[in-house]
Amino acid sequence: MSATDTRRQEIIVLTDEHKNRILDQIRHRKETCPHCGGKQFSVGDALYLGFLFRSEDSDAYMVGLTCTNPTCLAPRTGIRLSRSELLNT
Ligand SMILES: [Zn+2]
Repeated sequence: MSATDTRRQEIIVLTDEHKNRILDQIRHRKETCPHCGGKQFSVGDALYLGFLFRSEDSDAYMVGLTCTNPTCLAPRTGIRLSRSELLNT
């Protein structure tokens, strides 16, 4: 990590390939926005949960999602994924 990188270490910046896989997961799970019921999301960064919260599975990640419905009043949400779902490793 470079000296100019001010992101927190537990944040994982996802590639477009990762994001496309996450969007596949969202479609597969039929996830919807808890506020407006929208099905379209943009994918943000991932946060590793297993490190922060002992009650979580050791390979759990939370991925930030933003509902793309322009009329949604609370578009920020997230999806929990395992490492294999997230990174396909
Ligand atoms: Zn929404």
